[in-house]
Amino acid sequence: MAGESSSASSPVTVEELTLTVKWSGKEYTVRVCGDDTIGELKRRICEVTNVLPKRQKLLYPKIGSKLADDTVFLSQLPLKSSLKMTMIGTVEDDIIVDQVDSPEIIDDFELGQEEPVDIKDKEVNQEKLRRRIDRYKIELRNPCREGKKLLVLDIDYTLFDHRSKAENPLELMRPYLHEFLSAVYAEYDIIIWSATSMKWVELKMGQLGVLDNPNYKITALLDHLAMITVQSDSRGIFDCKPLGLIWAHFPEFYNSKNTIMFDDLRRNFVMNPQNGLTIKPFRNAHSNRGTDQELVKLTQYLLAISDLDDLSILDHKNWQSYDEEHPKRRRHA
Ligand SMILES: [Mg+2]
Repeated sequence: MAGESSSASSPVTVEELTLTVKWSGKEYTVRVCGDDTIGELKRRICEVTNVLPKRQKLLYPKIGSKLADDTVFLSQLPLKSSLKMTMIGTVEDDIIVDQVDSPEIIDDFELGQEEPVDIKDKEVNQEKLRRRIDRYKIELRNPCREGKKLLVLDIDYTLFDHRSKAENPLELMRPYLHEFLSAVYAEYDIIIWSATSMKWVELKMGQLGVLDNPNYKITALLDHLAMITVQSDSRGIFDCKPLGLIWAHFPEFYNSKNTIMFDDLRRNFVMNPQNGLTIKPFRNAHSNRGTDQELVKLTQYLLAISDLDDLSILDHKNWQSYDEEHPKRRRHA
């Protein structure tokens, strides 16, 4: 348990660093902490420059190759606030390429039974969440609705097969997407949260007709800048989507009891394991388009549980058998 001892010895309050980053003839200031990784530093730089993290190459005197490893903690580097870092990178205008050349993460992992509790309760991760809450602004596209529950949706492989090629993006849309969103909108506000850039989220959702559908409204879109990086003893460092960020912004509407999130990657729920439902990934759209029924079945589930006071008591792993176990709650015959 090497990770355990190192996290126990690191101070809870971490030093804030203000770094100057030179890019394209201008200087930018970013605020980071010692317990942030290089990956998080790149996200902060992305906020001010719009250069996506994977397009950034960072240069700093005498550090060299360590800056290429996104999992290295800033506290492990001899950074001084008097020195300037240089960033080399280009803003992408052709954001369609965004998805194609990014490394694909195929293997999701099951974290140990006790471990998700450890990760979400670790003070260092709670502190990261608090900092993200302070810095990330959620722009409402439509008002939150009184008395509605909240559904948070991933995009890639959840609503859309972003890896297959197609002339028209509609060919890659998960079947029944609009029917699903229209039906669940009766009981749930809908937020879409993707681990990519906001430009891409807006483009993709726009192309699929999700942003201007007359039958439902999207409350908000969130992107990769809203994610936090956490450390797991068994799985190392990875990014996740902490729902606490949404709950902190809209406490009068959303909380841990009325929120459910769909994602094909289980680790994205690590800060709120009771609120996540791991959806079967929608891949190979051209061969699976005719048979994929996930969104039809999930519509039934969401509507069946929508009158419960507390969704977090459910084990969403067993969602497929919910109707058989709770026939009285069945609404749609
Ligand atoms: Mg996904």
